[in-house]
Amino acid sequence: MTTHQITRVRRETRRRLLTVTEVERITPGMQRIRFTSPELHDFVSGAPDDHIKLIFPEPATESGALPDASMRDYTPRAYDADRRMLTIDFFLHEAGPATAWARGAKRGDTLEIGGPRGSSVVTDDFDWYLLIGDETALPAIGRRVEELRPGVPVTTLVIIDEASEEQIFASSAVWNPLWVYRAGQHVDDAYLFQQALAAFTCPPGDGYIWIAAEARTARVVRRFVLDNFHHPKEWLKAAGYWSQGEVASHEKIED
Ligand SMILES: Cc1cc2nc3c(=O)[nH]c(=O)nc-3n(C[C@H](O)[C@H](O)[C@H](O)COP(=O)(O)OP(=O)(O)OC[C@H]3O[C@@H](n4cnc5c(N)ncnc54)[C@H](O)[C@@H]3O)c2cc1C
Repeated sequence: MTTHQITRVRRETRRRLLTVTEVERITPGMQRIRFTSPELHDFVSGAPDDHIKLIFPEPATESGALPDASMRDYTPRAYDADRRMLTIDFFLHEAGPATAWARGAKRGDTLEIGGPRGSSVVTDDFDWYLLIGDETALPAIGRRVEELRPGVPVTTLVIIDEASEEQIFASSAVWNPLWVYRAGQHVDDAYLFQQALAAFTCPPGDGYIWIAAEARTARVVRRFVLDNFHHPKEWLKAAGYWSQGEVASHEKIED
């Protein structure tokens, strides 16, 4: 019997101080950073699209007052409980405290994190999966592709600048990667997603569709999927992982 349950699991929010152990540029635009800490001993991330808050202290003001730290949301890309090692992939866009920190990170640096505060746990009993996103969604997409059950079809539709940003995920699911390149195309991501989705046919059976991208783009893509695939809303999740011109934006996209 299929159940297709999507359950929200809440967790106590804790702050932890982590130390960088490894920095690796996995593609020209993606910085993978591995952290360890004894404080990770009870770290749990229950779903691929969990997020943690990264806490970046602001420099003291001229009066000496400490302003609020800035926080940004990132995906726990992988967690190795035996080694107490957490991996985060940072997409290096133009500017921002998180991007600047990741760009300059080196072994021995420390970073405070909070959460995950909760997880949206999707039972892996769908007949197929379609995961749509930009670079900020790639860590969650990669983790879900890796965690899906053997043999289940999963298509990923990801917009990146060019082929050098492609990633390979080790998975026993049947992974169909669709990469769309921005380079040379003078149109926005929303248009590129719609163009690619117009050529996509949903496999038979029940599917789960996940979308994360720039907020306006994610809204357009969600609407396109609802209007064209007539996909049940309860098996669709869409989020704005960033907003053009805004800092630290996270938007749940619903009607
Ligand atoms: C749940 C969740 C999980 C996320 N997981 C990841 C992850 O694992 N890896 C990851 O790289 N990102 C992830 N993001 C996106 C990340 O939080 C944002 O991109 C964030 O704004 C980056 O912070 P910043 O300090 O670099 O830039 P900010 O100070 O927040 O923004 C500065 C400027 O850059 C623009 N900007 C922000 N992000 C982008 C971008 N991607 N491309 C172009 N311009 C941008 C903003 O509009 C703003 O004008 C996630 C977001 C959410 C909500």
